[in-house]
Amino acid sequence: MDQTEKQLDKKERTKDRREKRRQEISLLRSIPYSGNQRWWSAETIAVVTGANRGIGFQITQQLATHGITVILTSREVAVGEESAKVLKEGGLDVGFHQLDIVDDVSIDSFCAWVKENYGGIDILINNAGVNHNVGSDNSVEAAETVINTNYYGTKKMIKAAIPLMRPSAQGARIVTVSSRLGRLNGKRNRISDDDLRQKLEDTDSLSEELIDATMTKFLEQVKDGTWTSGGWPQTNTDYSLSKLAVNAFTRVMAKKLSSRSEAEKIYINCYCPGMVKTAMMGWAGQVTPEEGADTAIWLSLLPDQVISGKFFAERREIHF
Ligand code: NDP
Repeated sequence: MDQTEKQLDKKERTKDRREKRRQEISLLRSIPYSGNQRWWSAETIAVVTGANRGIGFQITQQLATHGITVILTSREVAVGEESAKVLKEGGLDVGFHQLDIVDDVSIDSFCAWVKENYGGIDILINNAGVNHNVGSDNSVEAAETVINTNYYGTKKMIKAAIPLMRPSAQGARIVTVSSRLGRLNGKRNRISDDDLRQKLEDTDSLSEELIDATMTKFLEQVKDGTWTSGGWPQTNTDYSLSKLAVNAFTRVMAKKLSSRSEAEKIYINCYCPGMVKTAMMGWAGQVTPEEGADTAIWLSLLPDQVISGKFFAERREIHF
């Protein structure tokens, strides 16, 4: 077998494995949670960011179908209200509030509203995100917006929600929709500086300051035009870095949150939904938004969640 044939063979096997996993998950999704696994009720409050469409809309629908009260949030009021109406008309318990994760005022007024109307949050799903490159384009024209939304906005939202997260025997949960593109040690798309990679990997040297400094350095290089020789990931550079930052921040927060008392535990994890057919992908992905939402639902509802600071795909842990 020559090199090209070997590569084709490998691609075929990967495709087969993926298809098999899709079928397994479809089967797993059809098995209802048993009474003693269902730790949640209609009193359980979930918040989903960027939920007016795509994966976020599906996460909202599926959590609500499981009997959880879900707050669908969207930065545009009219479209968010319309999306929530569709779910409510389907008999689901879904509330709506405006929320723009890059806007401090919006986050503050949202949090005050949740506290007043629902008393707190049990599950936070950070789904809102942007990617200005579709296909093989790699422009960094929108790098600031991408890093600001996907990393800084998500971080702000997590920090604002933590004081609202309610103590419970099962622990509150934070799940962030991330991407394999943000893997630290991915074979094809990674930061080339070994030293920086190691510092970001090692939980002793990893810190919020290090993640912020890495984002600042990249954005400075974008501004002065030197980013192409900066050793950054080669595909979807700004988006990949924003998701790398979110993944790293998940680990920083998991470590911080682990010192909370047993009664006040908050578990935080992130996952990659696969290549999902949504507007972000120009509708060109391999899985449906419904399937892309699955690991978020699975992580949110885990009956005995003692998992924190991990990265998942298709209900399995993967390497950061
Ligand atoms: P969509 O573009 O369909 O949805 C993105 C959602 O995020 C929209 O509701 C959008 O709102 C919202 N959003 C963007 N910026 C903000 C903001 N500042 N505040 C609040 N909401 C905001 O894409 P997907 O459903 O595909 O993406 C959902 C998540 O999944 C993203 O985090 C994405 O990075 C991630 N992901 C997607 C993959 C895919 O293949 N599709 C692969 C890996 C990860 P609006 O309608 O107003 O623009």
